[in-house]
Amino acid sequence: MCFYNQKKFACGDWAWGNFAARCNHEYRMGETCGMKLVHNTENIQAQCKLCEKIEIKCRRRNAELERIARWRREGGVMKASMEKSGIQVRELEQEIRQLEYERQMKQKNIGK
Ligand SMILES: [Zn+2]
Repeated sequence: MCFYNQKKFACGDWAWGNFAARCNHEYRMGETCGMKLVHNTENIQAQCKLCEKIEIKCRRRNAELERIARWRREGGVMKASMEKSGIQVRELEQEIRQLEYERQMKQKNIGK
């Protein structure tokens, strides 16, 4: 078992950091044994990259939704723009779902 540092992000996700210490078992071979144990936990104030990406896309989606709502209040004459925004909202939602799925998979796999 070899020890690694762990990074814990503000969003609650975590990732393996730098290699910290080799266990006695593999010491002579000069290699890590492949079993990871936590050495130190470093708290990171920011969100992980994936959550950051999700947040950016959510913000963009909300901005588009606000624009659509505004055009609707103004009588809905900007039909082409509203349609374009609507398509963009659907695309963003799909991307957000994909990223959230990736995040789930990552959480499942990291413990191994
Ligand atoms: Zn995260």
